[in-house]
Amino acid sequence: MQEQELLRRAQAFLQQNKESIIRDIGTLVAIPSVEGPPAPGAPFGPGPRQALDAALAIARRMGFEPHHHQGYMGWFDLPGRQPQHIATITHLDVVPAGGGWRFDPFRMERRGEWLIGRGTDDDKGPLVYCMYLAKFLRDSGVPLRYTLRTLMGCAEETGMRDVGPYLAAQPQPAFCLSSDALFPVCSGEKGLFEGEWDLPVPGGNVLRLHAGEASNMIPEQAVCWLQGWDPALRLPAGLAVQAEGPLFRLTARGVGAHCAMPERGVSAAGLLLDFLLESGLLSPGERPAFALLQKLHRSFYGEGLGLACRDDIFGPLTCAGGILRVENGLARQNMNIRYPSATGSRRLESELAALAKGVGGDFRLLSASDPFYIPPEDEVLQTLLGAYRAVTQNSAPAYAWGGGTYARCFKRAVSFGPGLPEAEHKPPCVGDCHGPNEGTNLATLDESFLVYALAVFRLQGLTLAQLEGRPE
Ligand SMILES: [Zn+2]
Repeated sequence: MQEQELLRRAQAFLQQNKESIIRDIGTLVAIPSVEGPPAPGAPFGPGPRQALDAALAIARRMGFEPHHHQGYMGWFDLPGRQPQHIATITHLDVVPAGGGWRFDPFRMERRGEWLIGRGTDDDKGPLVYCMYLAKFLRDSGVPLRYTLRTLMGCAEETGMRDVGPYLAAQPQPAFCLSSDALFPVCSGEKGLFEGEWDLPVPGGNVLRLHAGEASNMIPEQAVCWLQGWDPALRLPAGLAVQAEGPLFRLTARGVGAHCAMPERGVSAAGLLLDFLLESGLLSPGERPAFALLQKLHRSFYGEGLGLACRDDIFGPLTCAGGILRVENGLARQNMNIRYPSATGSRRLESELAALAKGVGGDFRLLSASDPFYIPPEDEVLQTLLGAYRAVTQNSAPAYAWGGGTYARCFKRAVSFGPGLPEAEHKPPCVGDCHGPNEGTNLATLDESFLVYALAVFRLQGLTLAQLEGRPE
């Protein structure tokens, strides 16, 4: 089949199936698939399991033979001449609804080309489109050299603990495309490193301090309770103090941001610590720990801690403190570091441990995952970029970033769409992924479908060695 004929058929297929695609997305959005307490067959709780069952039912209705691995991961195959497979991966779980919605987050709304509801964008819309991609390739009789496996994960938002058990039982894909980011291709991700300090703050003025709510967010608010206050002190912008019984409640307001893009944020913990250290309100016993914490919050690039480094592919290391709690003479600070290949997790661990030891504290490593990168001359990367360019006329190069996606969980994988780099103009009733009024655009998903169809078609022409990125 010619490529032009393939794309023409794909467009006709989308028109014919549009209403059922929308209905299937709505069915999945109606299931609040937020991680919950594990149960037999439901390692991430009943919500993700129910969404998995609904997706498997859709696959069965399409005439596929779906499977799942103990509730961790679902899939179905469109067999090719060879058993080795190219995979697409998306996920069924969602983040909690949160506040601020104008709609019921779990009842999908349609406004023209926009679908609104939790998971429409991240990642149930792309998931349903990937399911229909397999149906399209089967219905149009495109001969496949490699099997196409449609993978559906159940815990992407909560640490991606679905991939490990699946891969322990099933073979690695020759190549895997994750549909949960932006076009053209994300070919590299920084290393991810999370750890925690416990620092002693004996006998001081700060009774309690509370900053940040999530380990991967720059704290937007910080508050502490002080035993003493100096009425002569002048407060900088963003800080406020209030008597609360015998105590003084000092609050700071910053700007929240995701730790992968910390430059958009202002750490409220940093504002509070700067003021406490300059004010003379701290006892000599409190100062060393607070001074170390200040160094962490003062720069998002690890400068104060001696961790700063960068390389040409990934840019700078970023380092942010998400959650800080001071209670009962102990400060517990979590940190989220995204690092280029110029450093490594061992080195970060030993430096952070030495800094903690310097003030009589400890460091605990919570998780570490190395950076990954596929160079631009890779045949698969070239094929994906070519398919994207052919459909969209856009010749943007591959990019690397500090986010963490499924791509890092496989031997050979990248994030490939479905979002377009020039964001569609969103009407005011549509919000972003993870936020209120999350929405997705059907025209964008249609275009991504054409890119995927052409990309999977062209990948059939590569050798297995090229797919797997090894010499012939
Ligand atoms: Zn996602």
